[in-house]
Parts: sequence; C-alpha cells; structure tokens
Amino acid sequence: MAEKVAPAKSPGKAKPLLAMKFGGTSVGNAERMERVAEIIREHASQAEIVVVVSAMGGVTDMLIRAATEASRGDREHWKSVRQELARRHREVADRLLSAGEQAAVLPRLAEHVNQFENLCSGFSLVREVTPRAMDTLSSLGEVMSATLMAAILRTKGLPAEAVDAVECIVTDEHFGNATPLFAETDLKTSERLAPLRRRGTIPVVTGFRGATREGLCTTLGRGGSDYTGTIIGAALDAEEICIWTDVDGVMTADPRLVPAARIIPEISYREAIELSFFGAKVLHPKTIQPVMKKKIPVWIKNSFNPACPGTKIGPAAANGQPGVKAITSVSKADLITISGKDTLSFAQLASKVFAALSLEGIATLMVTQSSADNVLCFAVHNADLKRVKTKLEKVFELEILHDYVAALEVMPHVAMVVAIGENMKGTPGIAGRAFSALGRRSINIIAIAQGSSELSISFAVKSSDVKDAVQAIHEEFQL
Ligand code: ADP
Ligand code: ASP
Ligand code: MG
Repeated sequence: MAEKVAPAKSPGKAKPLLAMKFGGTSVGNAERMERVAEIIREHASQAEIVVVVSAMGGVTDMLIRAATEASRGDREHWKSVRQELARRHREVADRLLSAGEQAAVLPRLAEHVNQFENLCSGFSLVREVTPRAMDTLSSLGEVMSATLMAAILRTKGLPAEAVDAVECIVTDEHFGNATPLFAETDLKTSERLAPLRRRGTIPVVTGFRGATREGLCTTLGRGGSDYTGTIIGAALDAEEICIWTDVDGVMTADPRLVPAARIIPEISYREAIELSFFGAKVLHPKTIQPVMKKKIPVWIKNSFNPACPGTKIGPAAANGQPGVKAITSVSKADLITISGKDTLSFAQLASKVFAALSLEGIATLMVTQSSADNVLCFAVHNADLKRVKTKLEKVFELEILHDYVAALEVMPHVAMVVAIGENMKGTPGIAGRAFSALGRRSINIIAIAQGSSELSISFAVKSSDVKDAVQAIHEEFQL
C-alpha cells in the first residue's frame, strides 16, 4: 500500500480514507476480481475504503458496438452481445458468490441485460442512437461490475454495497463527455455515502457515469473511471487515491511502443496532466483536476503486482531530476493550415479560429504561426477533424468566398511526439538533442512547438514514424 496510509494508532482514532479505482483489465474475469477483493481486504484493515470500478475489460467497447450496429438496423448483432454480456457476468457470479448472494445478484444482472436488450431493440427500430441514450447503454458495464464486486466483498465477509454514481456525480448535459458540477457533486457524494460510511460499509461506486441535475445518465468520456476515482476521492477529502491498473505505474513511455520503458517513481500533477493530455492512456486527461486544490496524492499501482510501489503523483515531484522525464505520443492527428490575405490581420484570423474551436470544445494539440505571412497552423485529434473542418468552413464562408482567406489545407496522418518534464526549464539543448536523435533515424520533423512554461516540447512527425520517433527520443535521453 502507498506510504501515507498508516494504521490508525489508537482505537478511537478514525482511519484515513483511501479511494481505490480498479480498471477494466483488473476486473476482467473472476480470478482478477477475486484478486481485487483481496487487495481491498488488505487495505481495509488499515484504512476506510471507497471503491470505484470500471466495466469488465472489453465490455464498454462491446456495448457501444452493439448500439451502433442496432442503430444501423442490424437486429442480429446485439443478440449475440446479449449472450456474451450475460455469460461473462454470470460466470463471475457462479465462481465467486455464495448461494445467498447469487440469489440476490443474478436477478439484478438479468435486469441490466434486459435493459441492454430493450435499448438495442429500440435503436434498431428507430435506426438511431442519440448521445443521451448511448450514455445510458454504454455505462451499463459499470453497473454490472459494481454489483458483482460488492457481492464478492460481502461473500468474503466484508460489508459492501454497490452505489450507482448517478446518485453522486452531477454533471452538465454534454452527453458522452460530461463535466462534473463540483459543488453539487461534492455535496451529493458526501450525503449519499455518509450512511454507508457510518455503518462501516464499503461503497463500490460505478466508474464512468454521472447524471444531469434532472437525473439523466451521462458519461465522463472514454477511460473516465479514473476521473470518477478522483472526483469521489476529492469529494470525500480522501487521504489518498489509488488507481489500480495493469502496469507498474506511470512509465517513461507507453510500454507498447518502448519495451525498455521504466517506471517513474514520482511525478508532479502538471507532468501527469501533460502526459495524459498527450495520449498516455494510463490516465484519463481530466483525472488530476479534482485533486489539485486539495493536494491529494494519487498513486498508480498494478493490481497484478501490488508489491511494486508504483508512481506517486503529487503537487511537485520531490526528486526533480533535470531534463526530460517521459515521452508520449498521439498517433492519429491532422495538421490544419489556414492562411489569411492582406485585409485580414493575423490577430483577427487567430481569434476567429480559436473562438470557433472553443465553442465546439475542441482541443488543439499544437499551434504554430507565421504572423508575417498571416498563416496559422494547428494540430487536432483525427477524431475531431470532421467537426473542425465543418465549423471553420462555415465560420470563414464569406472570407473564403471573397478570397480573404485561402481554403483550409489539411495534412493527414500526422503524429505528435511530446517530451515532458517539469525540470526541462533551464536545461539547455533539449530540443537540439531531440532534433539530432530524430535526424539520425532520418525522421522528418513537420513542425515543432515548445510551451513558454517549458514543461513539454512537441514534435509533429508522420504517423508512420511515431514508434521510431518515440524510441529515438527515449534512447537519446536515456530514460
Ligand atoms: P485501465 O483499464 O486500468 O484504466 P488503461 O488500459 O486505460 O487501464 O491504461 C493502462 C495502459 O496505458 C497500460 O496498459 C499501457 O499500455 C498504457 N500506457 C500508455 N502510456 C503509458 C505510460 N506512459 N505509462 C504507463 N502506461 C501507459
Ligand atoms: N469502461 C469505460 C471505458 O472503457 C470507462 C473506463 O474503463 O475507465 O471507457
Ligand atoms: Mg483507463
């Protein structure tokens, strides 16, 4: 367990509160769920625990695909998914639950499977799935896994209760990628969980989902259970939050791209935010936001290797080694160039572009400019490209018509490779070394950007070069 949660010293003293989030792989089958229950049991002897769980690995993808196929009129696909959904959860119940728990839990799981079936049947009839309906359906996996995990804990003699996060997390109405309304969420979470906490019952909260003020189910974006973990942990003023996943911690690079990547024992909030923004899947990009003010440490640990200390994410990294700390990448991006003519100033051009992007809630991965030539160039996630093009073509319709602005140019198949480290500031020559490392492997750099905070340096390269580029920079800085 993470270092700060010490056993309560005197019998009268309240135990520290520890929020623990378990990802999809960690709860992927009966054996893994049992391992998770053991981790919870171990920690429960020393701390008060609140658990957050993801859907069993692969379930969310399966649900989304079923809904999409149903909305295209396919009436067969979701029927096979229904079997698989029922089978996977039932198998866990059969293997890990007492007879009494099975009797209570199996009918509830069947209800969720029926809800899945009814929704998909509806989508196939109307040939549509709205973002709102998709949220209700895509987060059913979390409802099912939380139901199971609470029952597993009870079977092991630990008092536990499944809690649907729609009763805790209040969000705006941005279905598919909702933002929590923190003041209301904090209050609702504390109130909903207070009776359980008083009774010493472990709440097992569904990750990923929340609800609008009117009670409509929303989701926090793919991978959003990490965010649920910190939202709930911060709402309850947890001593610390532990995100249990399938790697030993935050690593110097995505281990799938760089097998030689190492664990980083400690990183700062700012570094973690930067890493997750630029594609490190280990953390949902908004995970750190709820804990920053309260300075709650977040640990990343491996549920398959709990003895490994993992990574501590805190306000500032203590062992501030100089230079680059980690490399990350976004492999599917596009570079958009927009050029203004004489009559339109660069400031006018840029303000119009960014106002349009912010209205659509689209993040830019990199921005470069040539004010003298009136040229603005920026990178976006490929998933956002269609929306960006449509929006900008509309916003600049007149300017394009009258030739004040040249038509948008899109360079597809671009990847962003980003070197991150809080202490890069004041370390000269980092960009130069990265340039040389890429040059030695004949990797062409399309664009480069460095924030004035010097927390990161980004290189745009061809998508096909991304693995090579990440490895080259990783090697150069001997991470
Ligand atoms: P979970 O299901 O537990 O939320 P995810 O699959 O979402 O887990 O995130 C963990 C994965 O993130 C790892 O298996 C690893 O492949 C990937 N990953 C990408 N970049 C990094 C990094 N810098 N450090 C650690 N893991 C990373
Ligand atoms: N189950 C959701 C997803 O796959 C949320 C999560 O796992 O974090 O996106
Ligand atoms: Mg995840």
